[in-house]
Amino acid sequence: MGNMDSTGSTDGRFSRRDAMKVAGAGALLAAVGTSLGGESAVTATTTSKPAEPACLPGAFAAGLYALPKLPYAYDALAPLYEERTLKIHHTMHHAAYVKGLNAAVAKLAAARKAGDNSAVKDLCRAEAFNGSGHVLHSLFWHSMTPGGAKPPADLEGALSHSFGSAEAGMAQFAAAAEAVEGSGWGILAFEPLADRLVILQAEKHQDLTFWGVVPLLVCDVWEHAYYLQYANKRGDWVDAFMKLANWPFAAERLALVRRTKA
Ligand code: MN
Repeated sequence: MGNMDSTGSTDGRFSRRDAMKVAGAGALLAAVGTSLGGESAVTATTTSKPAEPACLPGAFAAGLYALPKLPYAYDALAPLYEERTLKIHHTMHHAAYVKGLNAAVAKLAAARKAGDNSAVKDLCRAEAFNGSGHVLHSLFWHSMTPGGAKPPADLEGALSHSFGSAEAGMAQFAAAAEAVEGSGWGILAFEPLADRLVILQAEKHQDLTFWGVVPLLVCDVWEHAYYLQYANKRGDWVDAFMKLANWPFAAERLALVRRTKA
């Protein structure tokens, strides 16, 4: 991930700080911080305070995910986005994700305390659905501004570097958003391996990912990863993986991510 350290907008490349602004690092850092504490943030009584999201103020506060205030008045985007639609979207839909996310986090904490992971499948699903909904909506409100605003020079450079020109990137973004099958999102994101921007479609958003997080340690459970040796016994493979797991690598990545706080 060395190239993530690239800085300077003169060549259109993208500093990590820029990337985190785009990716909503605050929310992901909050998510990482919440998930690491053994005890959930809901019940945590330690003095280590979860970091306040830098880019998404109000989305995580006092140890809980929270409904952030809009960065503009409810009628500020009209007539392009009318007040009633915006208000329902924010106060009902987004609020429901926040409530569901805090509930999932609390239930996971209770399950860990009880040593009972029998409901982990449903709880992972609930955390992913509501967590992604919360992060993406928190980003969404800031993704609009009254009257719109053009990309500043550094982002324009990053768009040109990644898509040939800012206009081409914007056209691809609009086309991707329009073409999402069913419900979902068009997403401009940073891909650190190649230090470039990518445009993604998220169908729905709950397919077991929590948008905005940064992976620290992963276990491949596709059949190709274990079938030759373990056949249908995925549990045996996971047990083996856990004996091989490199937690210092996860620690290294965690430190890296935390250092990037914008
Ligand atoms: Mn929505």
